[in-house]
Amino acid sequence: MIGILCAMREELEPILKIVKLKDKINYANNIFYLAEFENKNLVLAYSKIGKVNAALTATIMIEKFKVKKLLFSGVAGAIDKDLKIGDLIIAKEVAQHDVDLTVFGYSHGFIPESEIFFQCDKMLNNIAFDVAKKLNIKLKEGIIASGDQFIHSKEKKEWIKDVFGASAIEMEGAAVGCVCWNYKISFFMLRSISDTAEEGAGVDFDEFLEESSEVSAKFLVEMLKEI
Ligand code: SAH
Repeated sequence: MIGILCAMREELEPILKIVKLKDKINYANNIFYLAEFENKNLVLAYSKIGKVNAALTATIMIEKFKVKKLLFSGVAGAIDKDLKIGDLIIAKEVAQHDVDLTVFGYSHGFIPESEIFFQCDKMLNNIAFDVAKKLNIKLKEGIIASGDQFIHSKEKKEWIKDVFGASAIEMEGAAVGCVCWNYKISFFMLRSISDTAEEGAGVDFDEFLEESSEVSAKFLVEMLKEI
């Protein structure tokens, strides 16, 4: 079983339109859609925004639906200057930028017995690059930082870039990464840029959410054909 996870309804809807829906199960205040695509069994859901919700839905996908690969599709704020609205980025690794135990001598993002950076599946990233090449789509790979904050400040964005080396920011990736790291499940994190994460990002986000969600969703579906 392959799990497809998004944070928001708008991110999931374009994928639901393409796959063949089989069933719908309500569980823990989420809707899990069982579907088929190219002879593959899928479970799809949107978790709601933020790390806690994403961790919950990812855990249910693994525990209840026996997902062996977890693929995320959604939107993110850009950190790297070469990332424009609508561009695609996949995470090489993900980190929680809002974890701060520095007073105990730990680095930003570090939790004892855990990791700062959770690695994404190399094989899935290679498939993404093959698909991008075939479709002649620009695809960047980088660190994606997650936290329970919508970033709309140049200063905060620069801080996240300096401390984590991140190329993009969102609010769920590292939670999914952490869950998958604990379960030793392959995970893949795809995002299309919706905003610059600077002042005015909220306005951009509202304007480009649907368009960028669609870009990410369509790419993910193309990838599913190759998995
Ligand atoms: N406008 C929405 C809230 C959006 S929160 C509402 O009213 O419901 C932003 C969502 O997009 C999160 O799921 C996050 O993962 C992603 N995201 C996009 N740009 C972001 C940014 N600049 N900072 C943090 N998360 C961002």
